[in-house]
Amino acid sequence: MVFRAKVFFFIVCVSLLAVSSWQAWKAREEHINDSETNIVNMARALAQHGDDTFKAADIILSGVVERLEADGVDDVQKPRLHKLLQKRVSEVSQLAGVFILDADGNPVVDSSDTPFSGNISDRNYFQYHRDHKDRGPYIGPLIKNPAGAWRLTVSRRFDYPDGRFRGVVLAAIDIDYFRNFYSTFKIGDNGLIILGLNDGTLLVRRPFFDKYVGYNLSKVPIFRDYVTKNHHGTHTAPSTVDGKDRINAYRHFNQFPLFVAIALSKEEVLDSWVEDTLHHTAAILLLIVILALLGNWLLRQIKLRLETEAELRVARDNLDQLNRHLQNLALEDGLTGLANRRHFDIALSQEFARALRNKDSVALIMLDVDWFKQYNDIYGHRAGDDCLRRIAALLRQVPQRTGDLVARYGGEELVVLLPQTTLESAALIAERIRADIVALDILHAASPLTIVTVSAGVAMIEPSQESGKSGEPEELVEEADRALYVAKARGRNCVARHDDVKIDSAFP
Ligand code: GH3
Ligand code: MG
Ligand code: MG
Repeated sequence: MVFRAKVFFFIVCVSLLAVSSWQAWKAREEHINDSETNIVNMARALAQHGDDTFKAADIILSGVVERLEADGVDDVQKPRLHKLLQKRVSEVSQLAGVFILDADGNPVVDSSDTPFSGNISDRNYFQYHRDHKDRGPYIGPLIKNPAGAWRLTVSRRFDYPDGRFRGVVLAAIDIDYFRNFYSTFKIGDNGLIILGLNDGTLLVRRPFFDKYVGYNLSKVPIFRDYVTKNHHGTHTAPSTVDGKDRINAYRHFNQFPLFVAIALSKEEVLDSWVEDTLHHTAAILLLIVILALLGNWLLRQIKLRLETEAELRVARDNLDQLNRHLQNLALEDGLTGLANRRHFDIALSQEFARALRNKDSVALIMLDVDWFKQYNDIYGHRAGDDCLRRIAALLRQVPQRTGDLVARYGGEELVVLLPQTTLESAALIAERIRADIVALDILHAASPLTIVTVSAGVAMIEPSQESGKSGEPEELVEEADRALYVAKARGRNCVARHDDVKIDSAFP
């Protein structure tokens, strides 16, 4: 019982731990999946934002190109163009400046208050436009202006009506614009956002370090193995900086040759999960401790109860034994060890009732020691008791069937109750007893035979056929007693049957 309770408790604890571990593991997977979804969405949003940023600048360039090609750049146009460019730059926050250059790379008009001077025909975007008929936008390169600010250029060529190269319109995009925008995202202390050109030139990196601007990424594994090969994707790998796992997502712009990449520290992503799991585990452990205390208390109670029950059982058994002993004492005659009068009365009424039910007979032998008073007088009371004990021991051998009972009726009178026995059989048994007692050969000087003898009266009754009589058990005793009286009258040491009574009374 106690062992089973312990096993049960153990199973409950193990199940609790198993279920909570499984749940914690699932929560971890969900956490990682959610973070992956988040940075994939973020990469998509940042790429779209980047595209829109460049597109806005390019639309302005297209407008200027259209106007230049239609109206040309004379002294009337120049102040108007300057005003227009200035207005556009003030309206569009990512724009640091717009410049118009002629076919030789000399400045014509720009958006600044202090006009730009100097020839830029050596710059690669200028040479690109001069040498290519392509009228689309051209991105790059990254430049650092004299004030130390980083700019990325977007440029377009404009032509004479006959298609000859006439010059370049250039917009300078402020890299800080992206920096400010990227600084507003929540990516944890170890998160990373990168904006780069498809050739591997790093433009913006959060955390922001100026030394990284312009850095070439082409040897960085994630760029080399993933970003150059796919339009977008996700990928988890140890960081090249600290070796800790990072969840990465990257995406190329749709219209311009740039990309964004975002990385989150897996450790940081799991921080809240770890905290949750610790709280959860602490709660489970507390629960187990409470269960253990309760279980222990319960077990002690069970043990105590079992012990008390065992003690009670022993006490009850002892009591039963004592009761049985007392019962025996109550039903036993102290001198002879035979059933006493009380026992006999109970047995007689039970057997009488049984005989009545079963239409059966009950026989009774009543014995009385002859000249016993004299025996006592001659040999003393103690010798008388011994004599009675010897006769009782002999009688104890008589019962053959369950239900037969030998009892001390009182004084030196003894009875043998014989259920389901005929008068004849009972008389035979009485006769045998009488003879056996003679055979004991106990000296009795006052007896005519000089030995102890008994007289016996035998009676039988069939309760179901006792019409007209009282039909009580006592009747059987009375009949046997009467027969005994007859036996005494006949001179003792003999057996008389209850039917002898009538004969003897008929012939006195
Ligand atoms: P009878 O042949 O007519 O029976 O003569 P009796 O002397 O036996 O007469 P009765 O039956 O009237 O006497 C009973 C005597 O048995 C009286 C008493 O002294 C003696 N007696 C009765 N009970 C005990 C007993 O427990 N122990 C002893 N030692 N004697 C007893
Ligand atoms: Mg007597
Ligand atoms: Mg007597």
